[in-house]
Amino acid sequence: MLFVRLRSLLFASCPDHPVALCEKCRRTYTPEQLGTEIGDGCYLCHDCGADLRESVVAHARTCPNLIPQKPLARMASVTSSMISPAVSNRFATRRRARLGLDVHTAAR
Ligand SMILES: [Zn+2]
Ligand SMILES: [Zn+2]
Repeated sequence: MLFVRLRSLLFASCPDHPVALCEKCRRTYTPEQLGTEIGDGCYLCHDCGADLRESVVAHARTCPNLIPQKPLARMASVTSSMISPAVSNRFATRRRARLGLDVHTAAR
């Protein structure tokens, strides 16, 4: 969940200025106004329901508060080339198999 991570980053670095703009309502949002709850809706415009993620990501790329410490480009490339799904799937399957075996043994 990259967006959640980005939002907590914005909470730390940009608490005092808007990080998102709804193009339709011309309404701006600070991290606090976007809300703290983890889940659907935290990145939606409170007035019209527009998706503000793009706007937030755009801010993160341009905001001087974020650029010096955490280059987002690097963050994004790390995310996309993170653990490949094949590897983590194989790991999960092996783990499940082992757990299944344990359950089986315990049942007898
Ligand atoms: Zn900022
Ligand atoms: Zn709106």
